[in-house]
Amino acid sequence: MASEFIYFGDPLIWFDGKLMASSDARVHVLTHGLHYGSCVFEGERAYDGVVFKSRIHTERLRKSAEIMDMVLPYPVDALEAAKAEILKRNGGGNKYVRAFVWRGGEKMMAVAAQQNPIHVAIATWTWPSMFDPAERMRGIRLDIADFRRPDPACAPVHAKAAGLYMICTLSKHKAEKKGYNDALMFDWQGRVAECTGANIFFVQDGKLHTPIADCFLSGITRATVIDLARKRGIEVVERRIMPDELGKFSECFITGSAAEVTPVREIGPHHFQPGRICETLLGDYMAGTRPQKS
Ligand code: PMP
Repeated sequence: MASEFIYFGDPLIWFDGKLMASSDARVHVLTHGLHYGSCVFEGERAYDGVVFKSRIHTERLRKSAEIMDMVLPYPVDALEAAKAEILKRNGGGNKYVRAFVWRGGEKMMAVAAQQNPIHVAIATWTWPSMFDPAERMRGIRLDIADFRRPDPACAPVHAKAAGLYMICTLSKHKAEKKGYNDALMFDWQGRVAECTGANIFFVQDGKLHTPIADCFLSGITRATVIDLARKRGIEVVERRIMPDELGKFSECFITGSAAEVTPVREIGPHHFQPGRICETLLGDYMAGTRPQKS
């Protein structure tokens, strides 16, 4: 086997309190997170070297770990400092930032592994916006996923837990093979929920409509966009949305730290025309993500 591995991402990774070369940031194959999905993570974006809503992401990471019965071995302040440092050492600028927490396999490898240490790492890489601004306003195309978001009685749906992404990867792969950009997922009761890595909004009669986020991730970008819309005087309605309503909306967009605000032009047989509200909120979001100069 070749001794040289090529690793994805920027040159340095913060791993359990140390900065190291990405190629040295390795885990053993007997790792609980790998075998049993005991891993939570964050997806964040830095703009001009500053992570947008950084502390809110780290607080969510701590909360996700707690839901997964893992105590974060570092305080939020320490992780905030680590994130700023790794970003700076990797060159700052516009970067995607991935902080993650997992249960190791040092002492035992079974469903229960309460003695195993909890690990934390932070990596950064370049992940450009999905589209350039002109192209972006054309909108993406969404398939409708076969898998549904699970019932909160069946999974820890409010954690950003790696295991919950199994059905997202399968749904997105299937969508891509059919020529779509992503897939819309319904919830366990058949109501419109979210995409494989982003929340969803619709426009009807000048108002924004978005599903109530009680059985899927209530995104940080979702909350930001709701605030921005209200500041513009756009009414936001959080409600149950049924699939048979999809034909009644004029505009549609998805939101997420990676997706930012991305207009949608198609969901299966339904067509939308990205318009004034998509454009306004995309503009407001992108303006708001830049570090404020004092
Ligand atoms: N839902 C899922 C399944 C996601 O992976 C993401 C991306 N983290 C979101 C929603 C949007 O969350 P946020 O705006 O906090 O990035």
